[in-house]
Amino acid sequence: MELKTAFPRTRKPRTLEWACAIHGGAGAIPLTTPEETVKRYREALAGILAGGIELLSDGAAAIEVVEALVTAFEDNELFNAGRGAVYTSDARHELDAAIMDGLTGRSGSVAGVRRVRNPVRLARAVLDSHDHMFYAGEGADRFAETRGLDLVENGYFDTAHRYRALCEARGHGTVLLDHDQGYGTVGAVVRDRTGNLAAATSTGGMTNKAPGRVGDTPLIGAGTYAANGLAAVSATGRGEAFMRHMVAYDLCARIRYCGTALEDAAHDIVMNEMKAGDGGIIAVDHAGTIVMPFNSPGMYRAAADSSGDLIVAIWDSPEPTSGTR
Ligand code: ASP
Repeated sequence: MELKTAFPRTRKPRTLEWACAIHGGAGAIPLTTPEETVKRYREALAGILAGGIELLSDGAAAIEVVEALVTAFEDNELFNAGRGAVYTSDARHELDAAIMDGLTGRSGSVAGVRRVRNPVRLARAVLDSHDHMFYAGEGADRFAETRGLDLVENGYFDTAHRYRALCEARGHGTVLLDHDQGYGTVGAVVRDRTGNLAAATSTGGMTNKAPGRVGDTPLIGAGTYAANGLAAVSATGRGEAFMRHMVAYDLCARIRYCGTALEDAAHDIVMNEMKAGDGGIIAVDHAGTIVMPFNSPGMYRAAADSSGDLIVAIWDSPEPTSGTR
């Protein structure tokens, strides 16, 4: 199968100063999606990426940048994270998120969060707590209170388009795996100016999921992973498949133990090991090389690096917006 990696288009001659990639979910995004909708997604991706570019150009640390990027996604109701999160089968929202610092190897994860406006910020608070690594359910919400994070009613996450998706899923009696808007999870991976790597991922999970179901997103090594010298990885798609394959860690392990190049490792995992339709990943390595392979019809994604390359894309073709910044 052809490598669905739209960026970078050519191998970079040297290590880049910084590099950054984001995704807004993979899935069965129809090519017939109305132009106006496509435009909204592309503008949202470009706007969020621009915020990351500014921070990285100013010398911000990778861990700060991935948190800022994912927070911006969570505040945008187009994406299945924060406001705009999908519904559980009992018509509520349970959010999962994780963040990992490649420099220190420290991470923070939260699952089944119901009252925290920005779950990635809570994950960061967990990382910074130097205590526990993973909070779930009511305890996670209570931990957010102690950290002074923005709390909201569960209804804050409600949106009409996600409610329609729930009704459809209930009608079919399924957990919606591949509805029209794709999976919609969001993530960011960054290599900063000092060579540090970081990754963050946030999601509402799957439409009509059972209350209490947790996917790959907050599981370190499955949906999120970062290790300096290896790679930073964020996944999107059928969470159960990413957990089974331990995708994010497997990618780093192949680089570490076999010396496999990032592109080859990512390609093999996504295109050969996983099943078509499972989803995709974004990853960046120590040299600033970015890969964004996916085996679903589409994946909302964008990337930029300090050489001036920039891309915003949804389907297979590179669809460069302007070629360079
Ligand atoms: N991976 C997420 C989950 O299974 C879903 C997604 O990527 O949209 O919870």
